[in-house]
Amino acid sequence: MKHVIIGSGAAGIAAAKTIRSINKNNEITIVSSDDIIYSRCMLHKYTGNERDITKLSFVPDDFFSANNITWHNSKYVTGVDTENNRILLHDKTLSSYDQLLIATGLETIIPNVGELKTATNVYGFRNLTDAKAIREKAIDIEKVLIIGARLVGLDVAHALLKLNKTVTIVDTASQIMPLNLDAVAADVYQKLFEKNGCNFRLNSKISGTISNEKGEITHVTLETGEKLACDMVIVATGVQSSVKFLDGSKIVYERGIKVDQHLRTSCKNVYAAGSVIAIGGVWSCAVRQGEVAAKNMCGIDATFTDTFTAKNAMHFFDLPTISLGLTTPADGDVVYINKNANCYQKIILRNNHAVGAILQNNINYIGIWQYLIKNQINLSNIKKSIWDISFADFYDIDEKGQYKYKQP
Ligand SMILES: Cc1cc2nc3c(=O)[nH]c(=O)nc-3n(C[C@H](O)[C@H](O)[C@H](O)COP(=O)(O)OP(=O)(O)OC[C@H]3O[C@@H](n4cnc5c(N)ncnc54)[C@H](O)[C@@H]3O)c2cc1C
Repeated sequence: MKHVIIGSGAAGIAAAKTIRSINKNNEITIVSSDDIIYSRCMLHKYTGNERDITKLSFVPDDFFSANNITWHNSKYVTGVDTENNRILLHDKTLSSYDQLLIATGLETIIPNVGELKTATNVYGFRNLTDAKAIREKAIDIEKVLIIGARLVGLDVAHALLKLNKTVTIVDTASQIMPLNLDAVAADVYQKLFEKNGCNFRLNSKISGTISNEKGEITHVTLETGEKLACDMVIVATGVQSSVKFLDGSKIVYERGIKVDQHLRTSCKNVYAAGSVIAIGGVWSCAVRQGEVAAKNMCGIDATFTDTFTAKNAMHFFDLPTISLGLTTPADGDVVYINKNANCYQKIILRNNHAVGAILQNNINYIGIWQYLIKNQINLSNIKKSIWDISFADFYDIDEKGQYKYKQP
């Protein structure tokens, strides 16, 4: 049996590990456009000169040899032929499979505005090649313009501020990180970024660009007519699943590759996992999906049913924040706020069930809130303050020292 995995990110590596833990003999091949194994979550550390390239990996140095896995790095898959069970690589070679896993993640969308798509000083921030190019470019330049004030935009801004660059972030939203934080928690971070020299243009849309004779963008124009000078532009606005190579194949995709609960695609013996299926965009979710797909590839029935994927953690300028589920309430929801000079905490309840939490600076009780939101525990019988809820309200320890669930 030959398992082929496309992609050496969180999902692909988790799948390879799982297959090997189940079966010692099956052939495992990973094909990846990456040239080394690295965590995308650590790219900002490399860009900001905090870590060198050898400290970005999330597997031991001998991972491939110790697990008897063949790794074809720096290879692009350009097609999948599901009739004949084989993949086509950019160098025109073919590789056959018995079971295929597609774990190709996401790619940056460069907006069709001005010369963003063609200029030579415009970068995304998804791959090590992006991080390397930005770090190299940053040596000789001063002004960086980042489009997008979401997590990835702020990650790269944080790194470039550490390199003493002048950073301006433009976003159409009225707050930073609108998908991860409410306005209050976002404002705390915005002020921290500003204190560290970052400029923001929120509620602002880019309408055009001005380039020099070298094909580099020197100014970005806003709809208001304002011109922002820049030496480099980083686009962190949107992403799409990396599925172009599936055009012409029978594997169905829309926003992401379509899969069932076993992570099977529309084609026999072809599975998909990780960000490419557009269910959850975080590392832990991609790992779990890789594991589930791998089990099924080995004939072990497994399903991915965990729809609680909305968990975000951030730690800019030493301020930790975690958000879970919803960040803004709907009509009828009950909101609890605990705010003082040192911390901000917010819990959203809907019909006596927790549906969202933001904990900023004091994240001590995050475990219990994750548990309550994920498992949709009814809190109507809890009579104490919401801030005093702990696992002891839901579990007893029996005579054998085992935890036993009790409905409060
Ligand atoms: C800057 C940044 C910061 C992040 N920070 C966090 C964080 O703090 N916490 C968190 O939980 N998540 C974070 N994420 C998200 C996290 O990195 C993803 O959830 C995770 O990497 C998804 O894993 P994946 O295996 O699906 O895809 P990826 O890790 O993106 O791996 C995709 C793989 O597919 C390969 N590939 C793509 N196309 C092809 C092709 N045609 N042929 C061959 N190979 C191909 C790529 O080379 C790569 O090896 C961050 C992401 C970025 C970009």
